[in-house]
Amino acid sequence: MVEGFRPKNLREALEIRGKLSSVPIAGGTDLMIQKARGFGLKPDFDKPLLFISHLQELRQISVRDEKIHIGAGVLLSELLKNGKIPESLKMAVRQMASPPSRNLATIGGNICNASPAGDTLPYLYAVDAKLVLKSVSGERIVLISEFITGPKQNDLKSDELLTGIIIPDKVFSANYYKKVGTRKGMSLSKASFTGLADIENEKITDIRIAFGSVAPTIVRSQKIEAGIIRKPVSEINNAIPEILKKYAPLIQPIDDARSSAEYRKQVSLRLLENFLMKLT
Ligand SMILES: Cc1cc2nc3c(=O)[nH]c(=O)nc-3n(C[C@H](O)[C@H](O)[C@H](O)COP(=O)(O)OP(=O)(O)OC[C@H]3O[C@@H](n4cnc5c(N)ncnc54)[C@H](O)[C@@H]3O)c2cc1C
Repeated sequence: MVEGFRPKNLREALEIRGKLSSVPIAGGTDLMIQKARGFGLKPDFDKPLLFISHLQELRQISVRDEKIHIGAGVLLSELLKNGKIPESLKMAVRQMASPPSRNLATIGGNICNASPAGDTLPYLYAVDAKLVLKSVSGERIVLISEFITGPKQNDLKSDELLTGIIIPDKVFSANYYKKVGTRKGMSLSKASFTGLADIENEKITDIRIAFGSVAPTIVRSQKIEAGIIRKPVSEINNAIPEILKKYAPLIQPIDDARSSAEYRKQVSLRLLENFLMKLT
């Protein structure tokens, strides 16, 4: 039998996390696949499960001090319905899984699963999302790029839960998201790309570029972005070859069942090129 706890509230959930080693389970859409052993066999959990998807404290979305606070237990389908969520995040969520899965899967689960193919991640890296990690003894707030330490690896402590995600309440003038998969729905990405930019007086005043599925974690370079800021949009077309050359060494995909490394690299650079061309 798999042992499980269904805490009444977040406080009780954190107390359980503090007392014994457990596996938090939100929608279970990643966990149940990873731990499945086959028809009729119990999943392979070696620790008690801590059910958290019903906790109302994790299901809230609010705007405070020009920041959007998203509970870790907010469902993907709820993100799509909520007017406070930026369109650029919705663009990614709309292409995730299928409507029934989006009614179970949570944004917190997508982050903690830490897959380089996680579709909310390029946007969250691009906007420097901060994560709220709570335990009974307090909370810490870390950048998503510091929390995710490798493929399927994160810095969650055994007594912590991810309780919230903080993103800027900001609308970029250019929003671009492309996911390349085997088909439109129900497929994990071979490559994904988020591009965000602000343009004022024909000059680029802010730009964020993030690639998914092409390295152990999401690829973003603030150094290369800084080199593009202040360029007049009229100069972007000429600058494209140089920008692609700078990103090329950072894109180091692997061959796997979904795609080849070479295809992933070429497609990722073409997505970047397409985004930059659209800015002009
Ligand atoms: C058919 C199918 C299609 C899919 N398609 C896509 C897709 O297109 N794009 C994509 O990115 N993903 C896809 N996925 C993967 C999955 O649906 C998402 O990653 C989803 O967001 C995971 O959320 P969840 O709530 O189900 O996580 P769970 O499976 O419950 O948890 C995932 C991991 O996060 C941990 N965790 C969850 N919540 C917390 C928390 N609050 N605090 C600490 N740890 C936590 C769990 O312990 C576990 O390690 C698909 C999955 C399936 C089965």
